[in-house]
Amino acid sequence: MLLQTLKNSQITDNEISELMISQEKVAHVQSNNPLDHALLVLIKSGYTSIPVLDKQYKVQGQVGKAQILDSILGMERIEMERLHEYFVSDVMTEKVPRMKKDETFGKALMLSINHPFVCIEDNDGAFLGIMTRRSILALIHRHLEKI
Ligand code: AMP
Repeated sequence: MLLQTLKNSQITDNEISELMISQEKVAHVQSNNPLDHALLVLIKSGYTSIPVLDKQYKVQGQVGKAQILDSILGMERIEMERLHEYFVSDVMTEKVPRMKKDETFGKALMLSINHPFVCIEDNDGAFLGIMTRRSILALIHRHLEKI
């Protein structure tokens, strides 16, 4: 019953801004960045995977440590010296979970089953931030505590 209510409910503007990590705090790269820069951002931020944005701050996809390391995997070792030969666009995936700010909580919940974060966009496709699986679970927990 509660889950049904949550599923159909709109995420209110308040909840979105409370739960969303806003764009300026999201570690990201651009598709024309060299791979060594992307790996540096990933290692420094400690995240497995981060959004790829274009110059207009629109979401293009995501890139992760595994994809980068896979691209420089030699027969016997990881060939770190080849990192600068590639760009983010060579290894990124365009598959990224995304939703509009005013879509239902059910969609965020559904997307978070298979993805650790969901990109939130405005109606023109501009990147607003991310909601993580952690924040979605926290919202459910908060609603459950109110029962
Ligand atoms: P967390 O729930 O904090 O473990 O975050 C889940 C995933 O969301 C991380 O593995 C990252 O892929 C992504 N993520 C969380 N916070 C950020 C951030 N500030 N910048 C970029 N990606 C993030």
